[in-house]
Amino acid sequence: MLRSRWRRALFLRLDGTWKVWNQETKNQRQELRGHLEAVACNLCGSERQTAVYAMPDRRYFREEFFTVTECDECGLGFVNPRPTIAEMQKYYPAEYYRKPPTKSHEGYLRRRFTAQASFLTQLEGGNGRRKILDVGCANGDFPRFMAARGWDVEGVEISESSDRIKDFRVHTQEFQDIPVNEPTYDAVTAWAVLEHVHDPMAQFKKASRVVKKGGLFVFLVQNFESIASRNLFCEDVPRHLYFFTRGTVRQYLEKTGFALEKEDNGRSIYKLAPYNWVAFMVRTKLLRKKYRYEDVPMTSKEFRYVNHLQGGLVTALKYAAYSPASVIDRMLWPAIETGQILRRTYGVSTFVGRKL
Ligand SMILES: [Zn+2]
Repeated sequence: MLRSRWRRALFLRLDGTWKVWNQETKNQRQELRGHLEAVACNLCGSERQTAVYAMPDRRYFREEFFTVTECDECGLGFVNPRPTIAEMQKYYPAEYYRKPPTKSHEGYLRRRFTAQASFLTQLEGGNGRRKILDVGCANGDFPRFMAARGWDVEGVEISESSDRIKDFRVHTQEFQDIPVNEPTYDAVTAWAVLEHVHDPMAQFKKASRVVKKGGLFVFLVQNFESIASRNLFCEDVPRHLYFFTRGTVRQYLEKTGFALEKEDNGRSIYKLAPYNWVAFMVRTKLLRKKYRYEDVPMTSKEFRYVNHLQGGLVTALKYAAYSPASVIDRMLWPAIETGQILRRTYGVSTFVGRKL
């Protein structure tokens, strides 16, 4: 009895917090409109779209909501309207680029780079050196990893992360604007980059221009057909502006002179954990209701912030009482992810396009 009363009090308190957040959101939505631009489909040019969901910038501006739409013609997903390029800077504060320099992080990077390099092994060996361009190379660790495997390397990086790179050539403008216009590279890679850019088509076209015949364009993007990307509000909106599927990637590649050679739908490079899969299933399958952003339980971090709590066992128990589904969810992740990978519906895919 006592426990349920305590829980009810907690729920009411949280519910009130959400309502305040929502009201603030509505007031600020209008204000934001002036900084946004409406766009047609980047892949097919159609202006007919259907809204899929709306969610805020969960990282930095919780009051700003964005709508993700899907092109009625080709199925490409994109934020529309969206911040202009000039406006975009605001959504990438310095802390976005800060990486934890820990030992476990180094181990994680080594595993990730090895997985990334596995898509390029078919080009290794034989005579002569191979040349790779890594788009969005950050501080240059992946090109350095490839250089150690015997590749000549170059990078593209528009953020200040590139300032400290002195050991290889790095282009500091957008990929489509770099002063290379001939077939130059055996491979161009872009790991979790294309969802961030304002014009993916320009990037595919540029890749087509600078990759040698028979060379590879290898890139990782989220999978808009996955529950995590499409239904669970796991996308990093508005830093993620585009949402791809197998079908839309194939069309991008075919329109720009590549053949889709391989798709790897899995979690070996980046993960997109199906947060709140249990809550989503209960609401949509059992209760037959829509699952909106407002229905998403707070993460434990958000919960601590809203309730001014420190970490620890008591807080963990309070969180478990607030959202039992989240706790069950955590336990089921490995099984859910494995099931999704087997059914090729996991949240992240790596694609290999071969230049024709
Ligand atoms: Zn389209």
